[in-house]
Amino acid sequence: MPATVAIVGRPNVGKSTLFNRLTRRRRALTHDLPGVTRDRVAADAPRPAGGSVVLVDTGGFEPDSEAQIPRMIRDQALRAIAEADAVVLVVDGSQGLIPSDREIADSVRRTGTPVVLAVNKADRRDADFADADFLGLGFPMVMLSAEHGRGIGELWEALEPLLPAPDEEEAAEQPPELAVAIVGRPNVGKSSLANRLLGDERVLVSEVPGTTRDVVDTLLEVRGRAVRLLDTAGIRRKGRTDRGPEVLSVVVARKAIERAHICLVVLDAVDGVTAQDAHVAGYVNEAGRGVVVVVNKADLLERADARAQKEAAERVLDKLKFLRDTPVVFTSALTGAGVEKVLVRALEVGDAFAVKVSTGELNRVLRSAWERHPPPGGKRPVRLFYATQVASRPPRFTLFTSAKGELHFSYVRYLENSLREAFSLAGVPIRFMMRGQHGRSG
Ligand code: GDP
Repeated sequence: MPATVAIVGRPNVGKSTLFNRLTRRRRALTHDLPGVTRDRVAADAPRPAGGSVVLVDTGGFEPDSEAQIPRMIRDQALRAIAEADAVVLVVDGSQGLIPSDREIADSVRRTGTPVVLAVNKADRRDADFADADFLGLGFPMVMLSAEHGRGIGELWEALEPLLPAPDEEEAAEQPPELAVAIVGRPNVGKSSLANRLLGDERVLVSEVPGTTRDVVDTLLEVRGRAVRLLDTAGIRRKGRTDRGPEVLSVVVARKAIERAHICLVVLDAVDGVTAQDAHVAGYVNEAGRGVVVVVNKADLLERADARAQKEAAERVLDKLKFLRDTPVVFTSALTGAGVEKVLVRALEVGDAFAVKVSTGELNRVLRSAWERHPPPGGKRPVRLFYATQVASRPPRFTLFTSAKGELHFSYVRYLENSLREAFSLAGVPIRFMMRGQHGRSG
């Protein structure tokens, strides 16, 4: 059973708009006019952290007009609320808290279901007159504009800790296809590698439907999993002689990087890491894609024993500092040596890329890292309040701290590395969003 979230509130506060926003429907399902009764509406809403929730719009719930609203509908709404994992109580921020909001809040509180207070129409608020009233209800509070799509991320952030993790069955139902791009400067052996992969792996579909003629993907099966090799046509299209082949290939690669989960960053074993390689790898890193470094043409190395490879890998990662701990594979597209490991590593990084860390574990790891090395502070020590994972593929985390401004990037990197170690996230880009004191109103 997926998690259930009920949306509650008096008429006209924007429940339907929020419902449509969360379920990504374009148009309103129902009119939200005062006193208009309707049946409950339910739909799937995709969770940024993966999976989905069943969202229930308890449209008939309006305690202060029992005369007009059949008791049955009201009771139904209350049952939906009691059965839900969480409730979003919507109020109108432009009007402030009114008595019927309080009544609804009380009824909802009695069901025992945890509540997030969504103060809607925040865009139309000209004063923060009502903040104290809203806060006085004692629920975690989020400001949003359902109409303009503002604050929706924050709403999910507040909801996520109240919801059960998406269950394994749900995740297993749609084994996500792993999209892999092969990138690197010209002549490192990308097309040779692509040809090898197409020769060695089982090709499921050589032209994935839906891709345009210029951008042809190939669907492979690796260890029983589907891997989509992106833009195989672009990789194999050989260097055009006359004008700007490099510019073209960079543009093509950028498009593939955007669509990829994992990028194979291909280097030439003899040349080592050049400035252009660093540029490509930097772009992949900025785009937030998982990485496997492929050192190709390993057949040309004088020494290729395990120790030599280990040292060479360290040299490579030393030059690409942001790719710390990234898996490095040595290949020869010419002889085929090592090629079979490439997509296996990609799958491993792909699984780490889809990691979902429980809030408890996340906070335990970050807290202990924080205590080992507190951030350099001024007069008052900066405190870590709370952290939560807000997205996966790539994993993104929000940290609530007492910092007045930004934390130093080297400290953020330290935290990232702590997570990377604790949860085996080699090759995975980790993103933190920091919420300090300064952003708060009031
Ligand atoms: P791309 O521009 O990155 O796609 O590179 P290509 O795949 O076209 O390869 C560039 C050149 O390097 C070609 O002459 C290939 O034959 C050669 N090459 C590719 N992989 C290897 C390898 O593993 N070992 C050796 N010795 N040569 C390779």
